Amino acid sequence: MAREHDLKAAGLKATLPRMKVLHLFHKSKVRHMTAEDVYRLLMDEGLDVGLATIYRVLTQFEQAGILKRHHFEGGKSIFELSEGERHDHIVCVNTGQIVEFHDPEIVRRIESIVREHGFELVDHVLHIRALAPTGGVERGTAAPARHTGPTATRRAR
Ligand SMILES: [Zn+2]
Repeated sequence: MAREHDLKAAGLKATLPRMKVLHLFHKSKVRHMTAEDVYRLLMDEGLDVGLATIYRVLTQFEQAGILKRHHFEGGKSIFELSEGERHDHIVCVNTGQIVEFHDPEIVRRIESIVREHGFELVDHVLHIRALAPTGGVERGTAAPARHTGPTATRRAR
């Protein structure tokens, strides 16, 4: 696992649960995961890391800026790596399916609205609630996974 330096840079010791969780986010096809998704995927790998530990690691990663936390549908936090291009999300209110998009026009509009009010833009969060066309697919952007978890669409190693 080559992400040890990410942890060191964040001032976190490279413990096994931290390494495993970080590795999972980097290798998984599914970009957006709940703590339960992470728990299940680690269990599939035969790694028995408790849910409480996973919550703690995810929170530490969020505080260190490694992960971003979203509050979409259903009240569960959803995490994704904070690296990469900034983007907004469309979330299906039925299935929780997530689609990422980036629209420079929207960003320009937001910037000008903020300026019109005399504010200085720090960041924006745009989360569009919508209905997915099929209703049968679930969370995950690269490859939508079933509601039972992202296991089915896991990238082959
Ligand atoms: Zn995203």
